[in-house]
Amino acid sequence: MDLLNTLLDKGLRRELPTRDEALAVLATSDDELLDVVAAAGKVRRQWFGRRVKLNYLVNLKSGLCPEDCSYCSQRLGSKAEILKYTWLKPDQASEAAAAGLAGGAKRVCLVASGRGPTDRDVDRVSDTIKAIKDQNEGVEVCACLGLLSDGQAERLRDAGADAYNHNLNTSEGTYGDITTTHTYADRVDTVRRAHAAGLSACSGLIAGMGESDEDLVDVVYALRALDPDSVPVNFLIPFEGTPLAKEWNLTPQRCLRILAMVRFVCPDVEVRIAGGREVHLRTMQPLALHLANSIFLGDYLTSEGQAGKADLDMIADAGFEVEGTGEVTLPEHRATAHAGCGSHTDTEAGTGCGSHGGGGCGPCGSTAQETAPEELVQEAVRNSEARTDLVSVRRRGAGTDLAPNA
Ligand code: SF4
Repeated sequence: MDLLNTLLDKGLRRELPTRDEALAVLATSDDELLDVVAAAGKVRRQWFGRRVKLNYLVNLKSGLCPEDCSYCSQRLGSKAEILKYTWLKPDQASEAAAAGLAGGAKRVCLVASGRGPTDRDVDRVSDTIKAIKDQNEGVEVCACLGLLSDGQAERLRDAGADAYNHNLNTSEGTYGDITTTHTYADRVDTVRRAHAAGLSACSGLIAGMGESDEDLVDVVYALRALDPDSVPVNFLIPFEGTPLAKEWNLTPQRCLRILAMVRFVCPDVEVRIAGGREVHLRTMQPLALHLANSIFLGDYLTSEGQAGKADLDMIADAGFEVEGTGEVTLPEHRATAHAGCGSHTDTEAGTGCGSHGGGGCGPCGSTAQETAPEELVQEAVRNSEARTDLVSVRRRGAGTDLAPNA
């Protein structure tokens, strides 16, 4: 297939595909899917070998957010029956992080609901970063606290943060349909602030929110232009009690095409499968490891993931290996460009929250109309009821008395 040969060559050279080529990946048929995975998998192996980086989420502050991000179970007015609690203390957060690190995670992602941190919040998180780093040599810490104001990225960096996550989530053109309390430009500004402060920028998307193929390509090209080191790809978890509860638009095949497209557009970037992996990829998760080089271990911010042991078994069974703390995540040209930043020299979050880190796929573009069977599946899932068999609210780990599943 000429398209895949072209994309493979470009991926190996870190050359940007054309928008039409990226759109064509999303429009491939099920017959072509394994060829797409094989081509994107070669690009993945060129830059990241067979290593899988494990990341662990600690939700420092859950629920009660004044913002109205439609996909988020923590949003203003959310009826989702999630855990709600205010800031974990540094020792509580450190204890929660320890479970993920013991399970093989090399990055801890500290996430808090809210529009953005106050300076006092930055102090709290700084204390938490110190507590985690004091007890876990070599650990990477990524903060995900919302929109940053002047000087906050620098203060987090000085406190030892390696990275900052803030997702673009969806295209600029549709951002206003998803959130009204802040803008796409606000999000871009925060990613730039993190970058400028010398933090490793982490920014990604949410697929499955009803967006078009063009929207998906728009947001991935916008991400490439921002040049983050890591791109979390979330698949919408349609929580009951949120405006997007009925948006069941994704199939495992669609998720694989999206991950492949992201890999071709951002070939040398840490592509992380984030929220919604178990819910939407289901038994196809191992195939997705050929595209992404990073996953979250255990639970997400407000929903439960599969057991950490199942993640480790899946990685081994699929012929991949967990990346160690002594291994550098990023390809040399990227790691060198950020020399001095702990995260880049040793190793690289975020579901960004199911909220900040995590977000949708919708009606396909013109060529996708040839894939009628998938459209039928999507129509069927769109009309279905809540999938409480797939979406389970987190009841363990951070903020509870129960052990996490990492
Ligand atoms: S994504 Fe973040 S800012 Fe938006 S509602 Fe959720 S917690 Fe609040």
